[in-house]
Amino acid sequence: MLSEKRILVTGGAGFLGSHLCERLVRTGHDVICLDNFFTSQKTNVAHLLGEPNFELIRHDITVPIYLEVDQIYNLACPAAPGHYQYNPIKTVKTSILGAIHVLGMAKRCRARVLQASTSEVYGDPEVHPQVESYRGSVNPIGPRACYDEGKRAAETLFMEYHRNNGVDVRIVRIFNTYGPRMHPFDGRVVSNFIRQALAAQDITLFGDGSQTRSFCYCLDLIDGLVRMMEQEDGFVGPVNLGNPDEFSIRELAELVIELSGSDSSLVLEPLPEDDPVRRRPDISLAREKLQWQPRVSLREGLEKTIDWFRTIDPAHYRPPTPNY
Ligand code: NAD
Ligand code: UDP
Repeated sequence: MLSEKRILVTGGAGFLGSHLCERLVRTGHDVICLDNFFTSQKTNVAHLLGEPNFELIRHDITVPIYLEVDQIYNLACPAAPGHYQYNPIKTVKTSILGAIHVLGMAKRCRARVLQASTSEVYGDPEVHPQVESYRGSVNPIGPRACYDEGKRAAETLFMEYHRNNGVDVRIVRIFNTYGPRMHPFDGRVVSNFIRQALAAQDITLFGDGSQTRSFCYCLDLIDGLVRMMEQEDGFVGPVNLGNPDEFSIRELAELVIELSGSDSSLVLEPLPEDDPVRRRPDISLAREKLQWQPRVSLREGLEKTIDWFRTIDPAHYRPPTPNY
């Protein structure tokens, strides 16, 4: 049997999708990258365009598409709060219709399909660190609900296609991940702080900066995604993927200032509604089932990310498409 597979990556031109496509192309697979470029641009995959085993399709996953594939990684969805709140109804449609369309494709092709779910399914968690069995604390009518509930409904669809139709599914819950190719204006904390530090602008600390997150370097995360897809034990998940080292947002700001050699100051801005107070993954399940754990420390990952931000011109990055 051929070891090279035909693999679809939805959202493949995005931050994580582009690293995943790169890894799969380098491994020799036949990769189809599907994206509508809502929160990304072709430059993320420009270096792959000349490869014979890479194909780029501009398509919106809320519309069905017929492709013949062996595996699907479903990453298409705006991920940063500023991006997913830009058109919340579209975010819900992307999560739910996108899931239905990739699951239908997987059913027809007998393909394996992996869902990029999120730590946001835990909402503002009362259980710390977050384990997969925790059912979460999500405000269903708040500003983050379009993303959180969309992703929760997508998990439901994945499990029902698995139970009712025997579709070979995998669900991973990704915790805050950062690295080169983050959109400089996505509003996420790492991209904001680095862009601000390099431009000698004030660093915007929301609230008092005591809220925590746990930051995973992108290539560690990609390794976890591929392990989850490739394992043959029939382990469906959901499984947490993230770095369990927890930092306050103030600590992150101070580290970015130190590593970038910036003289930016910290300024306090209001904490957004429903902003989770603490977040850290329990990754015991990933360790046990996938023999996976992150290897890159925050300091090391931030150095690589800052180096990349120094090479780009933020003026070349567009905000989300108006009237999208
Ligand atoms: P990203 O915004 O860079 O990537 C998402 C990609 O999906 C973009 O290229 C975007 O243009 C595309 N897209 C959006 N809507 C689409 C649609 N309707 N049709 C086709 N393409 C569409 O974000 P990312 O950080 O790379 O996130 C990738 C996936 O991982 C998302 O599903 C996200 O929810 C999930 N995730 C990411 C993180 C993280 O910290 N990076 C954390 C949890 C979950
Ligand atoms: N944050 C901040 N300043 C910024 C952007 C974000 O203090 O310029 C905070 C935000 O309030 C949150 C944390 O950083 O507490 C992580 O925010 P991000 O949008 O990256 O991700 P999420 O809240 O989805 O984890």
